[in-house]
Amino acid sequence: MKKIAVLGSTGSIGTQTLEIVRTNKDIEVTALAAGRNIDLLERQIREFTPKLAAVWEEDLAAELKNRIRDLQVEVASGMEGLLAVAAQEESEMLVTAIVGMIGILPTIEAIRAGKDIALANKETLVTAGHIIMPLAEQYHVSILPVDSEHSAIFQSLQGGQRKALHKILLTASGGPFRGKKREELRDIRVEDALKHPNWAMGRKITIDSSTMVNKGLEVIEAKWLFGVSVDQIQVVVQPQSIIHSMVEYEDGAVIAQLGTPDMKLPIQYALYYPERRYLPGDRLDFGTLAQITFEKPDMETFYGLKLALEAGRKGGSLPTVFNAANERAVALFLDRKIGYLEIPEIIQSCMEAHANISSPTVDEILQTERETYEFINHRW
Ligand code: NDP
Repeated sequence: MKKIAVLGSTGSIGTQTLEIVRTNKDIEVTALAAGRNIDLLERQIREFTPKLAAVWEEDLAAELKNRIRDLQVEVASGMEGLLAVAAQEESEMLVTAIVGMIGILPTIEAIRAGKDIALANKETLVTAGHIIMPLAEQYHVSILPVDSEHSAIFQSLQGGQRKALHKILLTASGGPFRGKKREELRDIRVEDALKHPNWAMGRKITIDSSTMVNKGLEVIEAKWLFGVSVDQIQVVVQPQSIIHSMVEYEDGAVIAQLGTPDMKLPIQYALYYPERRYLPGDRLDFGTLAQITFEKPDMETFYGLKLALEAGRKGGSLPTVFNAANERAVALFLDRKIGYLEIPEIIQSCMEAHANISSPTVDEILQTERETYEFINHRW
């Protein structure tokens, strides 16, 4: 029986991961970690009976401990708790379904403990890919992508020769504001940006999809996962979200993975790789599927994508600034403290003010994150 630990079990990816475990009945959940939602975490603990649970906030961890005092479950808190879940002896794989750069240290800890990583937490690779990928190689652990596009690329590479990979065609839905120009986006409200046309996801990533910053983060994530340059990755808008991404080989052959928009497919593929399992749910029906269309991304309106490509090309600590600035800007937007168009403006100001560090250590990455937050706090 495969044994997994899940960081971020109460979120969108975390709950879908547990849904797959529930359906398949042959994976043991040995540890769970969440931020604040102890109601859901308690239900998950009672259902999946892990040996260890972690809650970010100490007070909430104490409350959870009290609530589950009838069970034999250890409860930890803070970064110590996340690290304990990451390196827990019993587990074989860590699912990183936590949101934000807080995922870096636990991911490193898990790799050092020899755990395979089912990676949803893209921020870790975006900011620390130069540390994570060599470390995974050193410890002989697999990094299995959960992000649907990266899973599609990974699936399209099965059976092909890595060295014959010419380029990656990373598909994007274009989000709810595809086709609009910058002026039309000035009065966008939180409710509008939270309506994704095809995918149901967490709040932060839904806003990132609407600004196309998410696609930018995915380009940088793909660069590290598949060992290609940013210029070998082409973003293709495919509004129906049917083609989840493609690869083009040296001979011009293009291989793609298609399917209905359901995150459970890439999650399940990462959990059971290389095995494919039955997955309940809708199937593509090519008889009724009217069309699949393609467009170039509009990088003038959605210039967060352009900034991401710049950060990805330059590398160093710039992707950390890009990511941290976006995280803070999205939080401010969700709190209705800034307008929608200020999100890329804030990212750009932070990137322009930053003196790039070429190969930052984890400490320097986390310091850069703090400095970016401080820069924003002083100005907005
Ligand atoms: P959600 O916001 O839905 O969930 C985030 C999870 O992280 C929650 O369980 C939350 O706990 C937990 N968390 C947040 N902060 C902490 C903390 N300090 N300590 C412990 N746990 C914490 O996010 P998503 O599931 O949407 O996204 C997770 C990651 O996966 C992101 O990196 C995202 O970019 C990526 N991803 C998501 C996709 C999707 O479809 N949702 C698709 C592809 C990638 P709590 O709620 O209890 O506070």
